Amino acid sequence: MQKFITVAKKNEKSKKLEKKILDELLQYGWTENREEPDTVIFIGGDGTLLYAVQKYLDRLDHVNFVGIHTGTLGFFTDYTEDEYDVFINDIKTKEPKIFCSRLLQINTNQAEYYALNEMRIENVKRTQVIDVLVDNEQFETCWGSGVCLSTQAGSTAYNRSLGGAVIDSGISLMQMAEITAIQHSKHRSLGNPYILKPDRIVEFVSDDFSDALLCFDHRHESLEGVYKVTCTTSNHGVRFARYREYSYLKRLKNLY
Ligand code: NAP
Repeated sequence: MQKFITVAKKNEKSKKLEKKILDELLQYGWTENREEPDTVIFIGGDGTLLYAVQKYLDRLDHVNFVGIHTGTLGFFTDYTEDEYDVFINDIKTKEPKIFCSRLLQINTNQAEYYALNEMRIENVKRTQVIDVLVDNEQFETCWGSGVCLSTQAGSTAYNRSLGGAVIDSGISLMQMAEITAIQHSKHRSLGNPYILKPDRIVEFVSDDFSDALLCFDHRHESLEGVYKVTCTTSNHGVRFARYREYSYLKRLKNLY
């Protein structure tokens, strides 16, 4: 018997499918447990998983995630709604393999946050100057709209729109990309995406982060009063329950 919870995207299609899953699993003998679930079933898309992860951050080491997509196949979902019968049969009868995707840990002088895809410092109001230090060594100064530091899982998300590389599933690393960086005779930075070892400590420092936002996955916080944002790969990760073969290439081909 499993203690489970469902998290659905806020649209009619996903809510309807959520009800169908709930009815079927409750009838099968599984119990709904909001506080201490073993399994989180997310219904919607990759964005729904990001929301579910933030909701169950405190239980990440004890909970498995499995998703069914109500659009096209995503990176975090293993089934589409057309495969509902296979999905239900798999979760009822099979033992899953667990695949863990490690999170990014983000610290400021005010709080700690986690992200599965990426963290961004973004300022759309004015040029943001950011000193980037890697393992305590000054690396570069960026002038522009900000920076993005992504995980392997996030490489197909915002990072890809910035011209960052798509990283194969199973590789642990961080990738930094500048957001609309100014490059001319007075201001120069690397310009290319930079792939870093997962245990590097990356610091983003500025004496004026006012107007800038710290974005992590679908969430954001003000950087008012913050002068340094420190990031590294966390020991915590999202445990995906895989009941069948996962093809990363199939998902990639769906992107374009
Ligand atoms: P959202 O609506 O939840 O997501 C925006 C889009 O990004 C959706 O199509 C979502 O897929 C897709 N997505 C999320 N994670 C992905 C991943 N790892 N690989 C490929 N696609 C992915 O938007 P949100 O709440 O603002 O932000 C959540 C995430 O969306 C962020 O972490 C960011 O990476 C991404 N995003 C990307 C851009 C961009 O590429 N320019 C802009 C804004 C946000 P589903 O439809 O399956 O949910």
